[in-house]
Amino acid sequence: MAMEGESQRNLSDSRRNISKKDQERSASRLERLASHMAAVPLVREAQLARQECAKVKIKHQVHVSTLVEFLTQGHQSEQEKVYRFFLERPHLQTPVEIHKDKHRELCMRQLTAVVREAGIRPMDLLLNDPASYFVFTEAIGHIDLSLAIKLGVQFSLWGGSVINLGTKKHRDKYLAGISNLDYPGCFAMTELHHGSNVQALQTTATFDRLTDEFVINTPDEGATKWWIGNAAVHGKFATVFARLKLPSPDSHLDKDMGVHAFIVPIRSMEDHSVLPGVEIRDCGYKVGLNGVDNGALRFSNVRIPRDNLLNRFGDVSRDGEYNSSLPTVNKRFAATLGELVGGRVGLAYGSVGVLKASVTIAIRYALLRQQFGPPNKPEISILDYQSHQQRLMPLLASTYGFHFATQYLVNRYAEMKVTHDDEVVADVHALSAGLKAYITSYTAKALSTCREACGGHGYAAVNRFGSLRNDHDIFQTFEGDNTVLLQQVAADLLKQYKEKFQGGALSVTWNYLRESMGTYLNQTNPVVTHREGHGHLRDPNFQLDAFQYRTARLLHTAALRLRKHSQRLGSFGAWNRCLNHLLTLAESHIESVILAKFIEAVNRCPDKDVRSLLKLVCDLYALDRIWEDIGTYRNQDYVAPNKAKAIHRLVEYLSYEVRGVAKELVDGFGVPDFVLRAPIGLQNGQYSEYMQYVGF
Ligand SMILES: Cc1cc2nc3c(=O)[nH]c(=O)nc-3n(C[C@H](O)[C@H](O)[C@H](O)COP(=O)(O)OP(=O)(O)OC[C@H]3O[C@@H](n4cnc5c(N)ncnc54)[C@H](O)[C@@H]3O)c2cc1C
Repeated sequence: MAMEGESQRNLSDSRRNISKKDQERSASRLERLASHMAAVPLVREAQLARQECAKVKIKHQVHVSTLVEFLTQGHQSEQEKVYRFFLERPHLQTPVEIHKDKHRELCMRQLTAVVREAGIRPMDLLLNDPASYFVFTEAIGHIDLSLAIKLGVQFSLWGGSVINLGTKKHRDKYLAGISNLDYPGCFAMTELHHGSNVQALQTTATFDRLTDEFVINTPDEGATKWWIGNAAVHGKFATVFARLKLPSPDSHLDKDMGVHAFIVPIRSMEDHSVLPGVEIRDCGYKVGLNGVDNGALRFSNVRIPRDNLLNRFGDVSRDGEYNSSLPTVNKRFAATLGELVGGRVGLAYGSVGVLKASVTIAIRYALLRQQFGPPNKPEISILDYQSHQQRLMPLLASTYGFHFATQYLVNRYAEMKVTHDDEVVADVHALSAGLKAYITSYTAKALSTCREACGGHGYAAVNRFGSLRNDHDIFQTFEGDNTVLLQQVAADLLKQYKEKFQGGALSVTWNYLRESMGTYLNQTNPVVTHREGHGHLRDPNFQLDAFQYRTARLLHTAALRLRKHSQRLGSFGAWNRCLNHLLTLAESHIESVILAKFIEAVNRCPDKDVRSLLKLVCDLYALDRIWEDIGTYRNQDYVAPNKAKAIHRLVEYLSYEVRGVAKELVDGFGVPDFVLRAPIGLQNGQYSEYMQYVGF
């Protein structure tokens, strides 16, 4: 490769004197020479040629059990325990058609059975072994997404708020009851008028020094708590987010200390009746997740003891003095919300679980389904059509990428819970926001693609796409609306960018920006711009560089634009003027993280065959993403026209090659038939279950 370097230098010295055509020719010659020297076979288009609709012959050696083992990282048995538990209890399985009220009751019974019969303690897992908790909730989501969300409300939101925002006295009093379901609870943050803008919530908690209590009130219609999971039917407590008000001796106006969290009993422990001063209404039928009882809550002079303030970040003394180790309202607010990232981690992880199920059904069906074919020959599987490969294989590749990225997120989250290291905390916050937003949006679109890929049979409720799509859709909105979350990622990137130019350290996940910014600020290398050989395109260094170069470019130009516009529009106006640019920046960064984690997973895979299979899938992920955004790369002359064409050809070829192992790749997700349940997506590859379902 030394020769390639020398030749590149020579070319670079004289590049201003030669025409573009000459440059292309030289680059191509160099490429051939370099490939020859490095013994990398240069695969040209002719070699890729294959008979249209031909049966795929390429086969990777795949041991599905080794693949499953690598993917689950020792957690396989936990998922199997959940699956077996439900297999043995048909009365706990959710039927295809079920009324909202019955579904809610079933969900509660399912949850109770998991905790009290199966002996699984999700709260303990969340506290002591987060990786197992998320693996477990993925399996629960495969049983019924309503159950997964109800469980998340109980343990991650209601339990998580008590653990993370409260102190020892709260844990001592509530933890056991939350864990064993004696204390079913809610997380009451959102109001009718405010969802994303939590800082503007209007519910009040005013301290009454005479009685040593807080008085909770809903001051107006807009402050009605809305969408609160577990509130309509089952909840006995709620963590209510309200403005803490302290009476001021020198003014008739109370001092507003900002939004804090309070434990408020809402139903009687004796007879489950709604407590005085609390009004509860049912939010009614939803588009999906009808097993979760979302409700609306209003409070009128509801008195709670001072101890019910979850006081980890701010407290009120007996004589009404406020104290906090954090100096400002904004810092306290950030710390409060920061402790709630577990929900986002869970949604990102769970969304990959939904994607796995959906892709499995669509691909198994595409292998089973045969339509048309060459004249006088048998019909062929629809997965042998190039268009179908192009539709589904990149989805399959992305699912693998997301799996490794969320696995990394979960490990970082677990690390954060142990070390509380500031850098890890910042990393997990931005990463959980970005991955949750990116993956849930991707999965929502993928569900429609998979449904369409199954034609009419994809529309039968029993084949699951309808319920998966409806249940999953809201993943894009709750636990932080995706558009809002991506802005947090962009803001974090800009902060890191500013720090870089002030000589500060970048956090681990962001580290790549240091080099990428250097590359971006220099001219792109004209030789690399033209290289089109497979050795180069399938080189992870090229792929990562492409992703990271794009992020660095978007970041640098966003910073310049914001500076320019803020002079005239102010910072809010400038941000809004650049908003689409900022969202693209955040997505680009998250794609860089996903690819980096995918490549790391390929490299650390101990089994040679599985590693080579994953490398194939990873190449498809990377090149498909580059092709999807080829306009950006072309506009920047990062990729010359010949290279763009080569990337497109290779994406088609890799889709074809992955199709040859698609069955094994979806089997690797390890979702058993009785959990997947879609008759068109079962392992036996037959229509028999579907026939039985309609009564034949
Ligand atoms: C089924 C379900 C269950 C829920 N469970 C709970 C629960 O248990 N507890 C709880 O507290 N809440 C819960 N929620 C509420 C949920 O968290 C909120 O709906 C969510 O935070 C979004 O808030 P919003 O609905 O007010 O949307 P809005 O913030 O009003 O957003 C509406 C639209 O405006 C856009 N938008 C908003 N702000 C910006 C911005 N700054 N820049 C660009 N675009 C913007 C958004 O992208 C979105 O498209 C639940 C909601 C649902 C539907």
